[in-house]
Amino acid sequence: MNKCIQCGSTSYKPIIRRDDQGVMRASGQYQCTGCNLVFANLDEWRVNKQIPAGLKAPNAETQAAIAEADEIARVHSAGFASAADLFDDLERTAASKP
Ligand SMILES: [Zn+2]
Repeated sequence: MNKCIQCGSTSYKPIIRRDDQGVMRASGQYQCTGCNLVFANLDEWRVNKQIPAGLKAPNAETQAAIAEADEIARVHSAGFASAADLFDDLERTAASKP
C-alpha cells in the first residue's frame, strides 16, 4: 500500500525546482503531502510491511511466517542479555508447541 511510513498520508507530490537556467523542472525528488518528508525513492516513503492493494491475502503459511517474525521481534525487544539466551528461549518456545 502506498502510504507514508511517518504520517500515514496516502499522497505525495513531485518536487519542482528552478534549475540554473531558471526553468522549472522536476527535481527527481518527491514530498509527502502529510508530513513534508522528502524522498527520492518511493520505497523510502511507503509502508513496506503493508500488503499491496490488489494482492490476495497471504496464505496460512505466509501468515505463520509473519507471526513468527513478529514474535522474534517481540522477544528480541524484550531485552535478552545475549544471543544465546534468545535462542534458548526460542527453542523452549518451539518445544512447547504441540
Ligand atoms: Zn508523511
